[in-house]
Amino acid sequence: MTEYAPLDYLVIAAHPDDAELCLGGTILSLTAQGRRVGVLDLTNGEPTPHGSLEIRARETAAATTLLGLDYRGNLGLPNRALVADLDARKKLAGAIRQLRPRVLLTHYWEDAHPDHVAASALVDAARFWAKLSKTDMPGEPFYPRKIVYFYSMHLRAHVQPSFVIDITPHLEKKLEVVACYHSQFAMGRPAAPPTFLDDVRNLAAYWGYLIGARYGEPFRIREEVGLGNLDHLLL
Ligand SMILES: [Zn+2]
Repeated sequence: MTEYAPLDYLVIAAHPDDAELCLGGTILSLTAQGRRVGVLDLTNGEPTPHGSLEIRARETAAATTLLGLDYRGNLGLPNRALVADLDARKKLAGAIRQLRPRVLLTHYWEDAHPDHVAASALVDAARFWAKLSKTDMPGEPFYPRKIVYFYSMHLRAHVQPSFVIDITPHLEKKLEVVACYHSQFAMGRPAAPPTFLDDVRNLAAYWGYLIGARYGEPFRIREEVGLGNLDHLLL
């Protein structure tokens, strides 16, 4: 990894397409505000029924351009067999030390997909390791101030987020970004409503409804949320 200017936000996701699907609207909102945002995918996401390495890389590149990301990388860990072991922790902690994001965003710790569960645990551990001194990891010790967890659509259960981000101005573009992954979200899926993209829109409408907005994306945080004053509770 070469030298990068520090990021404001780094999304760490198990597979290319997770970031787009789970928090594409929030990423678009941040990049529109000029924040420096990166996405680090832990695996290449293949094999899948309708994808290939070439197709997936092309889809990821198209989505990256639409999102306006400052950085996109892939850690090269094994898809379907992601494990939060010491080797993976060291590799990820080294990447965090080089990218120096203020905030990490990763999968919520409970999920139906074992790679997502492993990714969540791996990010927790790597955040801590990133600040260690007297180590052969690249970069300088660094500790991201917060970890924010996003939800995937695999676990069909009602979740209890800590907050919801208003993504109303960005929903249509989020759907475009998600649609870049044609091999994952169009091929082999029902063409009749509700399509996969209908589901994405409907979920966003539900979370938006709960905060008095048209569309939203939910997030969970373990540590306390600090507000400057009570006005920040309101949209
Ligand atoms: Zn995934």
